Formats: sequence, structure tokens, C-alpha cells
Amino acid sequence: MTFKNKLMDIGLNLIDKQFQGIYHGKKIHPCDIKTVINKMLENDVSRCMLTSSSIQDYHDNAKICQDYKEIISNIGYTVGIHPCSSAEMMDGNDLDMGKFNNLENIWKDLLKTKNPYFLAFGEFGLDYDRLEYAPKATQKRVFEKQLEIISKLTVNLDYQPPVFFLHMRSCDDDLLTTLDNYNFHDDQKFIIHSYTDSLKLMEKILSRKNFFISFNNCSLRTEEGLQNLKACPLDKLFLETDAPWCGIRKTHPSYPLLIEALEETKATLSYKQLEYTVLKKKKIPLWFEENGLDKLEYLIGDRHEPCELWKIYLLASKLKNCTYEEIVVRVWDNCESVITHM
Ligand SMILES: [Zn+2]
Repeated sequence: MTFKNKLMDIGLNLIDKQFQGIYHGKKIHPCDIKTVINKMLENDVSRCMLTSSSIQDYHDNAKICQDYKEIISNIGYTVGIHPCSSAEMMDGNDLDMGKFNNLENIWKDLLKTKNPYFLAFGEFGLDYDRLEYAPKATQKRVFEKQLEIISKLTVNLDYQPPVFFLHMRSCDDDLLTTLDNYNFHDDQKFIIHSYTDSLKLMEKILSRKNFFISFNNCSLRTEEGLQNLKACPLDKLFLETDAPWCGIRKTHPSYPLLIEALEETKATLSYKQLEYTVLKKKKIPLWFEENGLDKLEYLIGDRHEPCELWKIYLLASKLKNCTYEEIVVRVWDNCESVITHM
């Protein structure tokens, strides 16, 4: 049993402006996506799934997959409309059918050609924490319309359809009951990503067939989050960075655990990332001037990167009291069986 190169980042936002070097609207370094991918590969992350929140995101992610295919082949994306982007699928009070037809045709094409980059439907779902982007009713209608289309396109497929990559925030049972209104393929799988809700709701989710939970560092900002990860069975577990977001902070209850776990596993865990220099804002331009995009040994301030994915795996092993290797191998098996279009 070996864990070499067996990490998959199932939630990665490479289209975020921070990877173009733009922070708060200001460009402070060149686009370093190539370096970010090379760093990721150097630290055991051999696969990744890029998150799309809109139709434009899908096009941008597809371009990244093409642009960097020489350095990473096990890369792909999700295709769907995030609840916070749902207002752009409306035309006044009605669904914008032109846009939904476009989305349907994209999905239809990707399925028909069995496009190897198309890994998941999503990211979609409900987010009642961020109603400023779209009210509940809009979020629901846009989510339901997507489910209706997917049901029609996939219910009779002769292979396992791409998994659902679901966003569920402060919406209690609403997401589950909405899903219940549609017929899906018998082998349809569902991942609730960036899980931050209660243990009780997690148990309810996991009592359903083909449902899985994905954790990132934001899931572990609270004691309850730590308990959730501890309680999530290994055969239901996924892990992600959600980079450039959701880096681990010193104020998180997970931070001291990470330090402790690192101390205990030093001999087996020798990730190069541990030696990277963290660049403070002022030092950034000089670093790129001197090193170009070839030198890998840097991280940028608070920007989270996929090369740091091992941290959440290590936390999972600490919380679940099993070896790092076991977590890696078990979650890898989940990736192989649930995210199948590789
Ligand atoms: Zn999300």
C-alpha cells in the first residue's frame, strides 16, 4: 500500500483572479497557474476537479484544461450554476430559457461525446447565507430547472452519470427535499462539498444511498466541524482545498491539531511544500523578477493552494485516529468509484 501521488483535489478554483496575480482588483504578479500545477504535482496531488459556478466558468475551466494538458492530464471540471450565480439565469421574473437551452446543449454534448474533462454536474444547490446574490425563490427555481434537465438527460444513460457536486449552506432539509422531486439514474452519486452544517444533518444525508460529504479547512473552523469529520465514515469521505479560498488559519481549532499531527508523522510526511517560502505582499514582485515562473518554492500570503491539500488529509487521519496512508488510500478509492469520468 502506498500513498504516493494519490491525492485528488475535488474542489479547486483555478479560474479565480488570484491565480492571475490579481488581488482586490490590483495585479501584483504574473499568472502562475503553471507553477501552481507543478507545485501541486510535486506534493502528491495528481488529480483535480475545477469548480464552475456559471456557464462562463465552464468555458474558462475548459480552456485551462486545454492550456495545461501537457503538464497535467488528470484534470477536469464541473458544469452547472451556483446558487450565488442564479440571478444571471433569470430574465426578469422568468427563467431565461435561452440560457437554459445553452446549458442543456453543453451538458448534452459533453455526455454524448463522453468528454473526459466533464467530471461533475455543479456546483449547484442552495445557499441561504448569501441571499444578497439571489433570493431563495430564485435559487430554488434555477436549481430545480437544472435538476429537471439533468434528470431528462441522464436517467436512462447506459453508464454512471457524472456525480453531483452540491453546495448546501444554511438550508436545512430544503436541498434534500428538492432533490427528492426528481428521478435520477440508479447509479447517480451526490457529493455535498465544503460541509459546514450540523452532525445531525450529516447523519441524515449519509443515511441516503450514494451520498458523500466533502470537507475542506472551512469545514473545520468550529469544534462541531471537527466532530463532523471525525464521524464521517471513510467510505463516504472526500477532501478538497477550495483554493484559493479556505486556507487553514491559526485561529481555527484545527490548527493546533495539524501541528501536533505533523510532529507525530514527520518521518513519513516529507512534503516539499513544507519548505516553501511564504511571500509577504511587498516581496512578491521581486520574487517573480528574480525567479520567473520556474522556481516552485513559494506560497503567496493568504492564498490557499492545491499543493497544501495534504493538510486536510493529515487532519482527517488525526481526527479519525488512523494512519495518513489509510486516509489517502481510502479517499482515493472513493474518487475512483464516484468521480468516474477520468
Ligand atoms: Zn460551494
